[in-house]
Amino acid sequence: MTNQTESNESTPNFIRTIIEKNISQKLFANKKWAGVPGNKTHHDNGIQDPAKIRTRFPPEPNGYLHIGHAKSIFLNFGLAKDYSGACHLRFDDTNPEKENKEFVESIISDVKWLGFDWKFKNELNLYYASDYFELMYEAAQALIKSNYAYIDQQSIEEIKENRGTLTSPGKNSPFRERPQEENLKLFEEMKEGKYSDGSMVLRAKIDMASPNINLRDPSIYRIKKESHHRTGETWCIYPMYTFAHPIEDALEGITHSICTLEFEDQRPFYDWILEKLFESGILNQPLPKQYEFARLNLTYVVLSKRKLIELVENNHVTGWDDPRIPTLKGARRRGYTPEGFKLFTERIGVAKADSWIDYSILEDCMREVLNSSAPRRVAVLDPLKLIINNLPDDFEEDCFAPNHPQNSKLGNRTIKLTKELWIEKADFMEEPEKKFFRLFPGNQVRLRYGYVVTCIGCEKDKNGNIIKVLCDYIPDTKSGTPGADSIKVKGNIHWLSTKYALNAEVFLYDRLFISEQPGSKSNNYLDDINPNSIKVSKIKLEENLIDINPGDQYQFERHGYFICDQESKKSHIKINRTVTLRDTWK
Ligand code: ATP
Ligand code: MG
Repeated sequence: MTNQTESNESTPNFIRTIIEKNISQKLFANKKWAGVPGNKTHHDNGIQDPAKIRTRFPPEPNGYLHIGHAKSIFLNFGLAKDYSGACHLRFDDTNPEKENKEFVESIISDVKWLGFDWKFKNELNLYYASDYFELMYEAAQALIKSNYAYIDQQSIEEIKENRGTLTSPGKNSPFRERPQEENLKLFEEMKEGKYSDGSMVLRAKIDMASPNINLRDPSIYRIKKESHHRTGETWCIYPMYTFAHPIEDALEGITHSICTLEFEDQRPFYDWILEKLFESGILNQPLPKQYEFARLNLTYVVLSKRKLIELVENNHVTGWDDPRIPTLKGARRRGYTPEGFKLFTERIGVAKADSWIDYSILEDCMREVLNSSAPRRVAVLDPLKLIINNLPDDFEEDCFAPNHPQNSKLGNRTIKLTKELWIEKADFMEEPEKKFFRLFPGNQVRLRYGYVVTCIGCEKDKNGNIIKVLCDYIPDTKSGTPGADSIKVKGNIHWLSTKYALNAEVFLYDRLFISEQPGSKSNNYLDDINPNSIKVSKIKLEENLIDINPGDQYQFERHGYFICDQESKKSHIKINRTVTLRDTWK
């Protein structure tokens, strides 16, 4: 074992075990790498690969990244980092229809936001599968030449029909034994645009009776007269994902190609393609190997690009960065942090079998990280006036509050105490319930960082609504002074001066779905949308937040963690609730 593996303290998992074994067996000791991706001839002229392993994160740029992708990003980039390897960011852009530059850019910024880059020594490992179209075309030609591929002119329905089922073998295509020269010529003409979409495909010639349906002569190239966001009109034929992916991995010298479990049945085809292209002299060894892990399924959340697109397009949310949707853009706006995601991926680990992870685990991780990093501030979310009767009208006094109770290095701040304050409506009850220890007539509570007060009653409007709570303060009981402990109270409430508090708007977010597995009952996840996933209200903020900027994060004492929204302005402060202090979901 190398030093890196010995000194690496990350949680073990089956992929780490494989990597450590591969390294100790010196499996990649003779691996050649020519600095950038390429075929055998190219890499044969290279040097011993300076990267001990190579992994990749290969998103298709057809949507925004979501929390599930974060798991894959931490896994792939994390492994490369821990084992002195390189992780490539590769855009798997082989399907022109739904891909575009906007998605490419958003993916780049999300991966960076999570704290990763694709630099390894002097390499910049940012790649596009579309850059390999020529090499993929040559690979397909090589397969034809070694009689491992043919042009099929059956209709799409016929191909489907003749594929057979899980219990019955497929039927050979009548075009399966087409002579090699004719296949080559037709393939070239396909590329030149002589034929229409769907009129023919190039298929691998494997075994129509294979028990693995994926090996029954899968299609590897199809005609698609569609403009591509990077290659424009250059190509009108595009490789199928299952053909393209192993080639992309091999050209990039990937050692461990890690994907989600649904690709397990594709692994034999992955290996078949690479083996045949190695035999044809197109690819060099060691060939990449595919490993599957369980995708992240999170309760109360949908993690599928299709569903996320639907939520956005049908206006169930306000956009790709709505703080309620599980895109990384949404999570970021909500106040979820890269450190929180890191903790989360460590905590849930990497498994070989699918399972559901409870959403509260993710929230706990965000809480844990914010608890240590977020400075404290006071906000009154549901304001009610409190008048201190025995103070003069112009009374003002500084109260000292720690910016972080466990981190004295962050210092203190002052909050002005005045005669008229804002408190939370819920901190007063005219007729207290059992175990209610806060304000009610006759009871004493501490105004946090200030004095103990005695409640003496309240005022109501003509409809009977409480509009003011009245109290007297008790001198010599100020927090931090010798008299502070002279009176013991059970309640400790936060407050803000009506004279100094700032106005703001808060967005209290809750889960977007009300059921653990959205759609599991009715088969339509949209039926399970939480009608109360957002509550907007006018709130009061402590005066020290006057210069709050978009992205600033705080704990609002007794409430939870909050972030200043990206659209917030000095004249209109907008705040998003990231997560409450405790798990309140019932
Ligand atoms: P979707 O299924 O939502 O359309 P996708 O898997 O098609 O997403 P890709 O762009 O192909 O999205 O994914 C890039 C990488 O992210 C893949 O390697 C894939 O395995 C991984 N990935 C996607 N979703 C998850 C998830 N829920 N958990 C873990 N990894 C995931
Ligand atoms: Mg996919």
